[in-house]
Amino acid sequence: KSGFISIIGRPNVGKSTFLNRVIGQKIAIMSDKPQTTRNKVQGVLTTDEAQMVFIDTPGIHKPKHKLGDFMIKLAINTFREVDLILFMINAEEGYGRGDEFIIEQLKNVQTPVFLVINKIDQVHPDQLLVLIEQYKEMYPFKEVIPISALEGNNVERLIQQIQEYL
Ligand code: GDP
Ligand code: MG
Repeated sequence: KSGFISIIGRPNVGKSTFLNRVIGQKIAIMSDKPQTTRNKVQGVLTTDEAQMVFIDTPGIHKPKHKLGDFMIKLAINTFREVDLILFMINAEEGYGRGDEFIIEQLKNVQTPVFLVINKIDQVHPDQLLVLIEQYKEMYPFKEVIPISALEGNNVERLIQQIQEYL
C-alpha cells in the first residue's frame, strides 16, 4: 500500500511537530516560510504495511486578491490529487477564523478527510467532547482522532487509521 497524505490546518496547530514525531530525522525540509510551490513533500514514512508520503499544501485562507484566488485553486487541486487529507486543529483554541473557509473548500472534493484534534494534553476531556460534536456537524469526517503530537498520545493509532484508508 502507498499513498499521498496532505496535512492542512492553521499555523501553529502542530503540523510540523506531528511530522517530526512520525518521520523524525528523515524530514528533509522544515520551513515556516510561506510556500509558493505546490505539493512539497515533507517526509515519507515507511512501515511494514504501507508507504505514506506527507505533503505540505500552501496555506489555504480566504483570498484578498487575485493571486490568493489562484493559490486556493492550486490547493484544491492538491486536495483532489492526494489519497487522504488530515485537517488538523488545535484543541486548545477550538473553532476559529479560517476553519469555516477550509471546510467549505473541502466540500468540493471527494478525497476522504480525517479531523485530527491536536494538543489534547492541554484540554479537559469534556471540552474535547464538545469540540468533537461541534466539528462533526460541519463536515462528514471519515475519522476524528484526538492526539498530542508533542507527547505522542494516539499518534500510533492515527498512523494505523491512515494505513486502513490507503
Ligand atoms: P505548525 O505551524 O502547524 O507546523 O505548528 P508547529 O508544529 O510548529 O507547533 C506550534 C507550537 O505548538 C509549537 O510550540 C509546538 O511545540 C506546540 N505543539 C505542537 N503539538 C503540541 C501538542 O500536542 N501539545 C502541546 N502542548 N503543544 C504542541
Ligand atoms: Mg509548520
